[in-house]
Amino acid sequence: MPLCLGLAANRIHHQTEDAALFAWLRACEAGIRELGLSLHAVGRTYDAIQGAGMLGGYGALHRYPYGREGGLMKLVAEVVGMEGDARRLDGAIYLTDPVDPSSTFPEAVALKRQCVIHGKPFLSTLASARDWVEMERLHAGLAPDPGAQRFHDFGRQTLALIAHDALKSRMLEFAALNFELLSRFGRRVATGTTGQRLNELAWSRGWPQGRPWVERYNSGPLGGDAQIADLVLERRCQRVIFFEDPHVARQHEADIQLLERAVTTVTTEAVCTTSPAVAQRWCEAALKR
Ligand code: PGA
Repeated sequence: MPLCLGLAANRIHHQTEDAALFAWLRACEAGIRELGLSLHAVGRTYDAIQGAGMLGGYGALHRYPYGREGGLMKLVAEVVGMEGDARRLDGAIYLTDPVDPSSTFPEAVALKRQCVIHGKPFLSTLASARDWVEMERLHAGLAPDPGAQRFHDFGRQTLALIAHDALKSRMLEFAALNFELLSRFGRRVATGTTGQRLNELAWSRGWPQGRPWVERYNSGPLGGDAQIADLVLERRCQRVIFFEDPHVARQHEADIQLLERAVTTVTTEAVCTTSPAVAQRWCEAALKR
């Protein structure tokens, strides 16, 4: 069964020739064809692709209604699952412009939330979408794309690790399982409590005592997400792995949204992963490369 993604882009991301949607297609068109990736594109995004003459003759690009006619709402239902395999999305690309009001509409929030709940990728930036295609190419046994090398230059990158309380044990399992790979990053940062537990794990695994494995910022509720967002905005953090708990209301929801919006502000550079299943799949692909 070929993979199938929902596809939507806020206006700024398909307005000009160098916009993120077209940059993604230029970088990934070969990969999309190799994977036979099926794309369910909402109206305006679909029209933009057609108008630009991209993905010419590609039969697996499907048009969905305009946003105002419910196109994005239909994608949410398909992430959950509709009518068996015919309407089943494996994830969604939603190239987000943080200052476009439609990016905060309930259907946009629900799209991300249902992706997190169902352990499917929610790709909100150009870099995330680009990195995902390369990940799936590697899992399909295709040769690494030299154009995606910058995503795998871990020694020059900073990785942020954050987990909400209900997912902290998943984060520790994830870090333990992928300790060697995650240790390759030039720098690791985390929110306070997540960071404390990750450091304890690292020390128990022989990481030099007294030397932190991750640099800790404030605890999330005390502003740690905002501090890490600033690193992202300064282009000093390229990858965020954030295990979110979609089932509880949080007092610091605004800070969490702030971090997610910061990531979409640097769309060409920042990759964000929001669920354990996707993060694990990414690690396994990275090891193949
Ligand atoms: P914590 O913060 O690692 O300090 O618990 C995470 C969060 O709740 O955002």
